[in-house]
Amino acid sequence: MAVSGLPPYDEANIFARILRGDIPCRKVYEDTWALAFHDIAPQAPVHVLVIPKGPYCSFADFSAEASSEEIAGFIRAVGTVARQLGLEPPGYRLLANMGTESGQEVPHFHIHLFAGRPLGRMLPGVG
Ligand code: 5GP
Repeated sequence: MAVSGLPPYDEANIFARILRGDIPCRKVYEDTWALAFHDIAPQAPVHVLVIPKGPYCSFADFSAEASSEEIAGFIRAVGTVARQLGLEPPGYRLLANMGTESGQEVPHFHIHLFAGRPLGRMLPGVG
């Protein structure tokens, strides 16, 4: 069991295959630490996924196991993507699912970046 409570990192997960270039993606940004690409099933006019290049299952795994350099590089990459997409302003939302109750589908840590319309309250049906 990985630190996140998820099973060990699965090298066959879809984002690992994208990182290896086995399957294509619509790339938005790439640097040493991160790859950003459009979500295949967008839930907002802008829906970009930013993933670290290392093999981390989840936020818990990444935050516990990645080096300070990787963490800093990844967080900076998320900010760079938002700026390069021209989203500061008008604004955007970041979201990371972790584990079963969050509905995490792909077991490679990723941050969703949503923008392009008023995004409403944080959770459906609340407030
Ligand atoms: P999660 O539910 O794990 O937080 O989000 C996984 C996201 O990955 C979903 O929004 C889903 O649409 C996206 N996704 C799944 N498979 C692919 C794929 O092959 N390519 C791209 N670009 N996105 C994918």
